[in-house]
Amino acid sequence: MGLGLWRVEDAHAQKLVEDAITIGYRSFDTAASYGNERGLGKAISTSGVPRETLFISTKLWNTDHGKGNVFSAFERSVCALKVDYIDLYMIHWPVPAFGLYRETWQALHTLQQRGLVRSIGVSNFLPNHLQSLSDNGGPVPVVNQVELHPLHQNRETVNACTAHNIAVEAWAPLGQGTIFSHPVIQKISSRTGHSCAQVILAWHLNQGRIVIPKSSRQEHMVENYAAQSIALSAEEIQMLDELDQRTHGRIGPDPATFVLP
Ligand code: NAD
Repeated sequence: MGLGLWRVEDAHAQKLVEDAITIGYRSFDTAASYGNERGLGKAISTSGVPRETLFISTKLWNTDHGKGNVFSAFERSVCALKVDYIDLYMIHWPVPAFGLYRETWQALHTLQQRGLVRSIGVSNFLPNHLQSLSDNGGPVPVVNQVELHPLHQNRETVNACTAHNIAVEAWAPLGQGTIFSHPVIQKISSRTGHSCAQVILAWHLNQGRIVIPKSSRQEHMVENYAAQSIALSAEEIQMLDELDQRTHGRIGPDPATFVLP
């Protein structure tokens, strides 16, 4: 489990990440477009924990696709984060309309070969985008970070990730906090005595997914982190599996068409 940092202001990121490290979090997910790499970088240097025990993920934004842009975009992220290397660098969205994600992927591979990035991954890639990377040769992404929560389980993409041996990382794992009132989630919560957030996170983790819930509140960060030791029954997992509304449950944009906000 990592801490997601979307919609965290740069001025608040340092304190939030320092608090999260005290709770036990070691993995942090940001992006060039979140505007808080600087705050995260300050926390990395002030936290007192060795850099190598932290796992820092950031992402290349849509306007930086293409070989000519990747290296300068990466340089800006590294400077803001004040780190020598990034643990996981991802393409934020495939933006198929640009036709550049294969070239961008090769540039990420070059960064990895130069030792500037430990691992390279993608985000919001659909099965056809993953297949296209595979057909193009080169390395397979270690991770695909996609919208995934009980109401949008993204099964086709998850199956494609499994076929390509790519780890699945769920963004909006809590449905951005909008699904806690669902009667099935409420039922499992009252039956198990765990909060709705914990029930949903345990469902993800029980199925081997990486999760990066975001919270700016200390008590929620503690509560979410504790979900790592919760086991749900097979019946409870199935009850949550059955909530999938496919694309109707999607909160974010469609990766097939998304260009810029
Ligand atoms: P999320 O599902 O993590 O929900 C976050 C919201 O849930 C918070 O704002 C908070 O209000 C609420 N919440 C969190 N813990 C809670 C608790 N214990 N009790 C009650 N409410 C709680 O949504 P998200 O922030 O969109 O997704 C998580 C992370 O995924 C982001 O911060 C970001 O790092 C990443 N992300 C990536 C993409 C992408 O395109 N790759 C898109 C969106 C988000």
